[in-house]
Amino acid sequence: MTTRINPHRQAQVSADDLKREPATIKRIVLSKAQIAVEAHPAKWLRTLSKPKARLLVIAHSDRGAVDDHALQAIAAAAILADAETAVVALILGELNDNLINESLKQAGADEVLVLPSLDFQVFQPDIELSAILSMIESLKPSRIFMPDNLIGDGSLGRRLIANKQLTAATHVIEIDANHVASAQTGGSLLAISELPEVILLSPNTVESELPFTGKATRIEAPKIIIENSQNTVTYQDLGMQGSKAENIALEDADFIVSAGNGVQNLDTLANLANALSASIGASRVVTDGGRLPRSKQVGATGKTVTASTYMAIGISGAVQHLQGIKDCRHVIAINKDASAPIIKRADLSIIGDAEEVMQALIAEITKAKVGAP
Ligand SMILES: Cc1cc2nc3c(=O)[nH]c(=O)nc-3n(C[C@H](O)[C@H](O)[C@H](O)COP(=O)(O)OP(=O)(O)OC[C@H]3O[C@@H](n4cnc5c(N)ncnc54)[C@H](O)[C@@H]3O)c2cc1C
Repeated sequence: MTTRINPHRQAQVSADDLKREPATIKRIVLSKAQIAVEAHPAKWLRTLSKPKARLLVIAHSDRGAVDDHALQAIAAAAILADAETAVVALILGELNDNLINESLKQAGADEVLVLPSLDFQVFQPDIELSAILSMIESLKPSRIFMPDNLIGDGSLGRRLIANKQLTAATHVIEIDANHVASAQTGGSLLAISELPEVILLSPNTVESELPFTGKATRIEAPKIIIENSQNTVTYQDLGMQGSKAENIALEDADFIVSAGNGVQNLDTLANLANALSASIGASRVVTDGGRLPRSKQVGATGKTVTASTYMAIGISGAVQHLQGIKDCRHVIAINKDASAPIIKRADLSIIGDAEEVMQALIAEITKAKVGAP
């Protein structure tokens, strides 16, 4: 009699062969070296002998970090760069720590220049234009890439194009070594051209996770010359005005604290959102039950959100919910079940009771605020 083997049973890879394990053996012990390789799959470092040309990527940072859209612009340049072309990322505004430098490496930047005084929160279009013209003069890039966004890069790119009368493509949604394409008339037509000198990329055109990395070496910015004569516009910067989180549409919110069926006490959730100055979202079970209004529902039949941070509390992470948060940068899950699907999507997970974790977070935030200068 032959024994039938369940094809879905766990398998074990050994030095000799791949064999099915008896159901009782569940653990495979990896050496430290194996774990390191699994956590950081090795990528080739793109090496440059002596670069003969440069592709320049210009993007603003936001509170010391570079967003995915900017990383995608760097990755676009890195994909097109040959072995003799360096990808230089010029970051306008502060750039904070090594983790951020790591993401620039992963996006393929070879060199990084930072001009911290050009913060996007300060409206100074003439000074910014003058500064980047000066950098372009000194770096002499063969092409310039910028994210086509609303935090300043889109408008700065257009000022540059007009000032230098450069060939350009905006709202680019397709790019390769020979051409760019932009959607026209709301997407019914595709305008195609050869690669121009300035490329303003739409979000999510390029995958920023590359199979290779750059060195992202920080280099000293060349001395910039600000030409006062560039100032042909009269304007007054009235500064940025903060708005209360509850007045911000969910689609525009940068930080969302979202309640699922696992949240018993919505008052605690509201207190946590208040402490974090975050907007409130919800899963469909919560809105179906009338515990929060339909306008708060996130997901396939609710809102699609793009927050930098999405905190999913007591939310299982059903596909319809995940659909609504696919563009969120960081997902934090609080759930008592470590095998809930949201845990796979989350960058950080806290396994525990929603009420207890929320109370603990509120206490920590309050403590930190009291201690703050
Ligand atoms: C056509 C269609 C469209 C849909 N559209 C949407 C949509 O737009 N948005 C949406 O959200 N859903 C949508 N759904 C519903 C979706 O399939 C799920 O049913 C829903 O998202 C589940 O919500 P939930 O995760 O809050 O609840 P549950 O599935 O009940 O999960 C609750 C989670 O909370 C955890 N939990 C329980 N108690 C605690 C506790 N004390 N502390 C910590 N964790 C706890 C549990 O482990 C579980 O993971 C749609 C479904 C269909 C069929």
